[in-house]
Amino acid sequence: MKPDDKSAPRFSISMFAVQCGTCFKWRVIPTQEEYETIRHTFTEDPFICEKKSGTSCEDPADIEYDNTRTWVVDKPNLPMTPSGFKRGLTVRKDFSRMDAYYTLPNGNRKVRAPAEVEKFLEENPKYKEAGVAVSDFNFATPKIMEDTIPADIEVGSSSKKRKMAKTEDE
Ligand SMILES: [Zn+2]
Repeated sequence: MKPDDKSAPRFSISMFAVQCGTCFKWRVIPTQEEYETIRHTFTEDPFICEKKSGTSCEDPADIEYDNTRTWVVDKPNLPMTPSGFKRGLTVRKDFSRMDAYYTLPNGNRKVRAPAEVEKFLEENPKYKEAGVAVSDFNFATPKIMEDTIPADIEVGSSSKKRKMAKTEDE
């Protein structure tokens, strides 16, 4: 990692969870693949507890939304990552935003923009032939929930202002 790299290695996605549309409890989804499958059709086909095997709305929540961990909320209906590729996210040091990337098959090369995906698909026609398209890659990033950001992180100028306001109160 270069010292000027804007993404911090300190935090990474450790868990996927989805909220039940009926009871609003959070359910942990064991794999990124299953999570992406649910996310892909989330608007037309909202998640309910029964979709997680052995689970019903009667069961206690798997996890609670609180600030013991930082939560980021995904956009619904993102395309499913084509087989062989892997979607990843990094968070900037100041937690101002996240960045999305895809790891390419057969190696650790990462792409961070549609133009890079297009170049890769042109250079490796076998993926195009297998039906992989640039539209399968989406670089939309989740919203970082400000109330769950670690207390020692100074997020942009707005939270500095808030901290100052807090100091004035004391
Ligand atoms: Zn439920």
